[in-house]
Amino acid sequence: MEEHHHIQRSTDPADAPLDAGPATPPPAPEAEPERDTWPAIRKGLRGRCPSCGKGPLLHSYLKVRDQCPVCGEDLYHHRADDGPAYLTILIVGHIMAPALHMSFVHWRPQPLVLLTILATGCVALSLFLLPRLKGGIVGLQWARRMHGFSVSPSEPRVLAPATHGNAREDRP
Ligand SMILES: [Zn+2]
Repeated sequence: MEEHHHIQRSTDPADAPLDAGPATPPPAPEAEPERDTWPAIRKGLRGRCPSCGKGPLLHSYLKVRDQCPVCGEDLYHHRADDGPAYLTILIVGHIMAPALHMSFVHWRPQPLVLLTILATGCVALSLFLLPRLKGGIVGLQWARRMHGFSVSPSEPRVLAPATHGNAREDRP
């Protein structure tokens, strides 16, 4: 008897044709409610929990709390990593480099005066922006359910954050 050799459809998304969407929609184990991205980012930029907007997100200047002290949302899933520093450098550089250029062209101040003002401005602006941008990135990751944020808190899949490294291994 002749066996029908159907073309095996690969389940690997890398093998899918580029112009076609995914062969099957990604499985939705349970309907997780959509999270609005920009409100979460705005809450994070204010240094607040992206879920409730009330609890403080950070402690010790730049450390993200494991849980929100108000609503209990798990926050230790974040992987902000170098993102806040990158954005800080990007913004501070684009503000202070033109400021250096224009102040030198217009006023030609003494070098030590220019150095003092610009160095103080760079440091102050960086220290101001860094925790806010970190909050914004954590808010983005929370809203888009990146990393461990995809697991809803009612699921007992991820338990207490014994160590930050182990918790990430438990995601599906
Ligand atoms: Zn909260």
